[in-house]
Amino acid sequence: MDLRIDALRKSMGEKSAYITSKANIFYYSGFTSEDAYLIITPARAILVTDSRYTVQAKEQAAGFEIFDIKENIPFEEKTVLIEEEHITAGRLERLKKKYPDKEFIRGDEIISRARRIKTGEEIGLIRTAQEIGDAAFTHILDFLKPGISEKSVALELEYFMKKNGAQGLSFETIAASGIRSAMPHGAASDKIIEKGDFLTLDFGCVYKGYCSDMTRTVVIGTASERQREIYNIVLKAQEAALSAIAAGKRCADTDAAARDIIKAHGYGEYFGHGLGHSVGIEIHELPSFSPKSEDILENGHVITVEPGIYIENFGGVRIEDLIVVSDGKAMNLTHSPKNLIEI
Ligand code: ZN
Ligand code: ZN
Repeated sequence: MDLRIDALRKSMGEKSAYITSKANIFYYSGFTSEDAYLIITPARAILVTDSRYTVQAKEQAAGFEIFDIKENIPFEEKTVLIEEEHITAGRLERLKKKYPDKEFIRGDEIISRARRIKTGEEIGLIRTAQEIGDAAFTHILDFLKPGISEKSVALELEYFMKKNGAQGLSFETIAASGIRSAMPHGAASDKIIEKGDFLTLDFGCVYKGYCSDMTRTVVIGTASERQREIYNIVLKAQEAALSAIAAGKRCADTDAAARDIIKAHGYGEYFGHGLGHSVGIEIHELPSFSPKSEDILENGHVITVEPGIYIENFGGVRIEDLIVVSDGKAMNLTHSPKNLIEI
């Protein structure tokens, strides 16, 4: 953690940082509750929490001074970076009243920037989280059959992941079948899975604070001509994007590598979202693969590649792998098969 704090101090200069988001509290201190905040100054690292958590804080946040929330914590710097995208308007008002002589400025980029490049240790944790995800996919293939509900599939995935070391889920599991698979974020419902359905499963788990994320689409029964056509276009786009990934290249170019193929097959309007997002302590981090991104890929980025085609009243396909940019190119952390699986 010390290296992370040193890096933050370097980029903030003579300012302080008032850190309120759970993700950044964890990143800088190792503390795992959000009922806390950090004050990091050029000379001090302070964690403030209430009496329920002081023992845990002492254990997890080595090197931090631990204060009780009731205490008034004086610190010298006049300019204080805050996480504007996270802090509530009410809390900021109270903060300004409590510290009338200080100036609070937007610090989101400075505070979160370091998290973009993952260390070897972080990549190891994400790799383990993804291994649990891959094992869950292998497990679910035996479980799937017509007549069961989307919810029962999602629960089985979640139960398997938790039983195999996950501490939680990266996000609410998506299990969307039939025409519901045309919804890119169709949370599992009571719908019964039927023969002839596409079934899209998008899921991930958290391992020691780090997330995984993967998507596979399968067909229940035998795939129709059109299902096969759409599936193969998405697969071709996904593989083109994976090979286009290179350190030093624009993120927007990776998005284009997949999007151009989908467009060329006439399905451009059915791929409405960006190609991928970075993953770490949070499920959606920066940089992302989107047409608008101005970011450049670097070694240590951990990012998803997830093109899709979604056709209302028909269904949809998405294939998502999680990769790390390593030695200048994509190293895939997802090992589940990508050929069209018919169940
Ligand atoms: Zn996903
Ligand atoms: Zn994703």
